[in-house]
Amino acid sequence: MQSDTKNYVASVYEEAVRRSPGEPEFHQALHEVLDSIVPVLAQHPEYERAGILERLVEPERQVMFRVPWQDDSGLVRVNRGYRVQFNSALGPYKGGLRFHSSVNLGIMKFLGFEQIFKNALTGQGIGGGKGGSDFDPHGLGDAEVMRFCQSWMTEAYRHLGDYTDVPAGDIGVGTREIGYLFGQYRRIANRHEAGVLTGKGIGWGGAQVRTEATGYGAVYFLKSMLETRGESVEGKTAIISGSGNVATYAIEKLHQLGARALTASDSTGYVIDSEGIDVALLKQVKEVERLRISAYADRRSSARFVAQGRVWETPGDIAIPAATQNELGSDDAAALIRNGVVAVVEGANMPCTPDAVELFQESSVLFAPGKAANAGGVATSALEMAQNASRENWDFESSEARLRDIICQIHDAAFDAAERYGAPGDYVVGANAAAFVRVADAMLAQGII
Ligand code: GLU
Repeated sequence: MQSDTKNYVASVYEEAVRRSPGEPEFHQALHEVLDSIVPVLAQHPEYERAGILERLVEPERQVMFRVPWQDDSGLVRVNRGYRVQFNSALGPYKGGLRFHSSVNLGIMKFLGFEQIFKNALTGQGIGGGKGGSDFDPHGLGDAEVMRFCQSWMTEAYRHLGDYTDVPAGDIGVGTREIGYLFGQYRRIANRHEAGVLTGKGIGWGGAQVRTEATGYGAVYFLKSMLETRGESVEGKTAIISGSGNVATYAIEKLHQLGARALTASDSTGYVIDSEGIDVALLKQVKEVERLRISAYADRRSSARFVAQGRVWETPGDIAIPAATQNELGSDDAAALIRNGVVAVVEGANMPCTPDAVELFQESSVLFAPGKAANAGGVATSALEMAQNASRENWDFESSEARLRDIICQIHDAAFDAAERYGAPGDYVVGANAAAFVRVADAMLAQGII
């Protein structure tokens, strides 16, 4: 029975790859999910009969468009805009926008596909989507970024709406970009539709804790995972990559819980700070002044900058890759294991390569996949949508308490599903299986669409 199911799943994968050649990250994300749900499908023949998998791997809609804009010198520049509306069985499409030079359709599809399952795990009514552009905001002034955002939204607005599709931030898109995008949407649509975007500023529809949520949530997930082995976050040292929103607030929460985060990085290298990363300085350097990470070490005597090094060679109990996809490979995993890492938590989306994940699991290192561990961001986005719809503003403490509860529920759902489907302690199988069942049941109930 399982071998028939395996063959069936393999054939769905091969057909999806044939239909979308040259999209390695999408294939990687597909492979990981499909591989883990074989035991679920074996127990639920009705999913196969209803063609759930064949429908799930094909986005409901994919929008690609030209984004022309003028830079400060008057030069006309052209980027490509995307919005992949992957699955809306559970709610309006929901997922961030990424502005980065590496963006292409395959990256958008991998992120959109992951988002379906991540959003399902939150237990909220949100479908999966992702968007963005190959636009690189580095080194550009506010006026250029504004013109780009306005041009992106001038096409995209017709595909969005608080009951249709609700973007938020991701790499390269923070409160500044969400502000420009929201302004243009409001102007074109002639509607103050606060729930059309999340990650808005506090004061114009934004929610408390949304900024902190992804990083805080990753650390709450870590806490729950460690507790299954009778361990705690307190007293641990942590190695973190990245210096954006996720890394910054993961570090902040680690420090609040008595751990010490030793590193942060960007594409130019990493800093190692023997006293623990100073979050206020990190924010000042990266968020306020938008400088390279070496500026952090220039201003702090306990820190040094390592150019082009591998942050994962630094010894620590915990690793939180919070930069980008496939940033942590098998050599890095081997170095972490050699140095005695206890737990690895994906703060970014798919930062560990499949080989690295396998090594962690073989060595009994606790491993939390991004779609479970970083779901706090999108979960708090859904809380922002709820506040916008009811015209309420919740305070920080109660919002953080909700975030904590949601992450605990995700942890427990993944933990239990791993046991149910014969892979105890395997959070990859557990998260994929729990999420898949929720989406598949909704698709089953709603007919062949
Ligand atoms: N980009 C984030 C993610 O990867 C947040 C998405 C959202 O809030 O919609 O989950």
